[in-house]
Amino acid sequence: MAEAGSFADRVKQQADIVRVVGEYVRLKKSGQNFTGLCPFHAEKSPSFAVHPTKQIYHCFGCGVGGDVFKFVMEMEKCVFPEAIRIVAEKCGIAVPRQKERSPEERKENQQRALLVEMHREAQTFFVKQLEATLEGKAAQAYLEDRGLDKEAMTRFGMGYAPSGGDALLRHLKPKCNEKLVVESGLVSRDQSSGRLFDRFRRRITFPIANESGKIVAFGARALGDDMPKYLNSPETPIYSKSNVLYHMDRAKEGIRRQDFAILVEGYLDAIAVARAGISNVVASCGTSLAEPQIKLLGRFTRRVIVNYDPDAAGQIATERSLSLLLEQDFEVRVLALPAIGSKKADPDLFIREKGAEEYLKLLKEALPYVDYLIARARQMDLTSGEGKRQAVNFLLPYVQKIPNRILRSEWATRIAQQLRLDEPVLRAALSKAAAERRSELKIQPELVARAAKPVERRLIRMLAEAQGFRQELAKQLQNARLYHGLETEKIFEALVIASLSGQPVQATEVGAALEDRDRRLLFEILFEEANEPTWEEAMSCIEALQHRRAERELADVQRSIEANPPGQELRGLLEKKQELMRRLAAAR
Ligand SMILES: [Zn+2]
Repeated sequence: MAEAGSFADRVKQQADIVRVVGEYVRLKKSGQNFTGLCPFHAEKSPSFAVHPTKQIYHCFGCGVGGDVFKFVMEMEKCVFPEAIRIVAEKCGIAVPRQKERSPEERKENQQRALLVEMHREAQTFFVKQLEATLEGKAAQAYLEDRGLDKEAMTRFGMGYAPSGGDALLRHLKPKCNEKLVVESGLVSRDQSSGRLFDRFRRRITFPIANESGKIVAFGARALGDDMPKYLNSPETPIYSKSNVLYHMDRAKEGIRRQDFAILVEGYLDAIAVARAGISNVVASCGTSLAEPQIKLLGRFTRRVIVNYDPDAAGQIATERSLSLLLEQDFEVRVLALPAIGSKKADPDLFIREKGAEEYLKLLKEALPYVDYLIARARQMDLTSGEGKRQAVNFLLPYVQKIPNRILRSEWATRIAQQLRLDEPVLRAALSKAAAERRSELKIQPELVARAAKPVERRLIRMLAEAQGFRQELAKQLQNARLYHGLETEKIFEALVIASLSGQPVQATEVGAALEDRDRRLLFEILFEEANEPTWEEAMSCIEALQHRRAERELADVQRSIEANPPGQELRGLLEKKQELMRRLAAAR
């Protein structure tokens, strides 16, 4: 968090959360707060509030909340240092240059920068080849034939790698270190002769950018019948294929806005869908999705429509991706495009033949993955017992991955109906599968808001902001152990510690030390409209807590008496009861 005196702390002091949030959310003044529609959940009436003096935000609907950095981290899906930089820039605060930690790290950073620069250079080279050479013109004709016009070529940076064998190498050599050129993966070394040659030859090139838009690799499609049809860059210091999703740099805005992503297989599919005006599309650029790619996607949305090729390989890739996505708690739908004539349609072909509108229509009707899988299972021979067993075995691993019990049960009914299976038998299989899964289940802390009593709410508010007597109040509460056993105990504890430190209480820092549901309650209390606190009021709140505790003790004593203990003990309990009743009567 923002340590005192650090750059982050300085930025936080100077930044105005209302202004920063206001760049993302339309805010209206409402009492002492500003309110607007929550950017983190869908809603029609505003439950998202920003507090200008406490410099915090809180959503009464979905419970998110924090300081200006937390907000930017959530909106931009970035890490803390990045959020500091963004806020600083928005507020016109100069950012100090980052220090590199070790000489090796500096060297690696330099190398990576050079490799990125080399890819930029190669991109310029490929584009020029496509535009200005004879071979390139032929490649253009090929692209146009596939429905890709000049506008598309420019927009997606398509280029051409010539057939010569070392054209790019000769272009790069005068400018770049040879060892680095080899490391870039743009050239390969012939194992027997040791000679260097271009990796991509006689191919159309597609730049692959990382999430921040820097070109880190190329995909290349053969122009003729050369094999393989698609060839990608190898793994390099700046590119790992399981970490990158094609088109992510341009899709992330749309994905966040629409809260779902379309996942396709190849870059030509992604290009076709994006050209149809659907910007939230990414391609996995391999046979199937890898876990780091899912994590990357998960930073922007939890909802995915998988639209892989309808061939056998595509089906396997779809099912593998489904498994991984379900494990990561994604809500998944599947779009299986209908064949066109006798041809199985990938998104590229389908949009070319049927148009963007038809594609969009099918996209809206994409099946929940359950129905997709049931449809797949129904293709098995369900007339025999063996076939039915096969179908259930095909479905069970997916069902097993559904974290929600109710959903799992709904599924069981649906599968039984659709496959005409005996429901009790299926349920037995399912609960066995679920039991096997249970061991990995982590129990989520419940995020339901809790109701604290008004006295507790008031005292919490005072501890957070009554500058004059906060410390004295904290002392009294702590000495009498008045908050022990309360529902709000953890909040009190954190605030008392902060108050006793003598430093101003930072709501976000106290909140950061709490569990999510406690933090949520604390923020709710801080946003309540309230009068200036007074010491008299604080004292009457303390009395109320004392009264409540005496009542609790009295109830305990009464229970012990009713348990009919031996004489000596009973006498002690009766005395205690008298004393508590006297105290309670005096307080009235
Ligand atoms: Zn919300």
